[in-house]
Amino acid sequence: MTELNTTVYYDDDADRSQIDDKTVAILGYGSQGHAHAQNLADSGVDVVVGLRENSSSRSAAESDGLRVKTPVEAAEEGDIVSVLVPDTVQPAVFEQIRDSLEAGDTLQFAHGFNIHYNQIQPPEDVDVTMVAPKSPGHLVRRNYENDEGTPGLIAVYQDETGDAKEEALAYSHAIGCTRAGVIETSFQEEVETDLFGEQVVLCGGVTSLVKQGYETLVDAGYSPEMAYFECLNELKLIVDLMYEGGLEEMWNSVSDTAEYGGLTRGDRVVDDHARENMEEILEEVQNGTFAREWIAENQAGRPSYTQLKDAEENHHIEEVGRPLRDLFAWSDDGDEEEEKAEA
Ligand code: NAD
Ligand code: MG
Ligand code: MG
Ligand code: MG
Ligand code: MG
Repeated sequence: MTELNTTVYYDDDADRSQIDDKTVAILGYGSQGHAHAQNLADSGVDVVVGLRENSSSRSAAESDGLRVKTPVEAAEEGDIVSVLVPDTVQPAVFEQIRDSLEAGDTLQFAHGFNIHYNQIQPPEDVDVTMVAPKSPGHLVRRNYENDEGTPGLIAVYQDETGDAKEEALAYSHAIGCTRAGVIETSFQEEVETDLFGEQVVLCGGVTSLVKQGYETLVDAGYSPEMAYFECLNELKLIVDLMYEGGLEEMWNSVSDTAEYGGLTRGDRVVDDHARENMEEILEEVQNGTFAREWIAENQAGRPSYTQLKDAEENHHIEEVGRPLRDLFAWSDDGDEEEEKAEA
């Protein structure tokens, strides 16, 4: 086996004294917030959840046995302030809590967008770190409860105390991430690879591939139901194999015909032109063009986003898929969070 290029940190690498006597303020009680807060509390760490007076999450956090205060009060109490509200809301929440941060406190994130693109300019006398589980929050919670872990990333942007990395590792231990393994990255690398991955492969690339394949078959006169199965439904089986054993396990599991057809045709679909587009999209991520566009889109009330989302929901493949999924036993409704996969 080839050597990894990176160090993986496990439970034994974490020094829990870095967090055990501290108070952690968790701002937000959504996907990540509820998982971090409950895992920390179950690990014996003092937790205070910061939510707006009128937040609908208040009752959930309280019935989970947690102390709930306003974001400002929580940030005042917290030695570590973990910002787990939506990325688009974080700059406004930060403005409210900025003066509650004391020298030596830690401002912590689970994604680096606002720090990397300067939407949040933290005070100079605090540590700024990231602890980012590579999974949606409900799995971070479920794995912890099952004595399993969730892999994660840590990063240090500002190390005022000299203990920023040790503390991030201790936090990772307390939410269960070092059980599975944690690797260190930078805010820049986390943000740029995350945006690139979701735009080019995971969310953008894959949905376009599915839609174009589907439309090609339907336009050629094949039945929409057959096109749906071939181009969308079966994707899960292929992705599961790649997840378990890489491309190799997938190629070994499909027929030789599928393997030969795929190996000879794949690069004709995603060709040099697609590769040039990928490089252009990466550049837009790196030079901030995408970030500026998305920030302006939010400031304008999300006009394009709303329109695109609407068109996607009304795409023919969705109208064909909805009743089909209801007819088949493989389709369980699952919980909503499960479908809101990490990206
Ligand atoms: P979320 O959308 O699930 O929840 C956000 C919570 O913030 C809400 O439940 C609410 O309690 C609170 N909130 C919403 N609007 C608010 C406002 N205006 N003022 C104050 N509080 C408000 O968020 P999330 O998906 O858990 O994301 C939190 C952070 O974690 C983000 O930085 C995200 O990029 C990162 N992250 C998310 C995932 C994931 O799978 N969801 C994975 C890794 C990292
Ligand atoms: Mg404080
Ligand atoms: Mg087939
Ligand atoms: Mg991601
Ligand atoms: Mg993302």
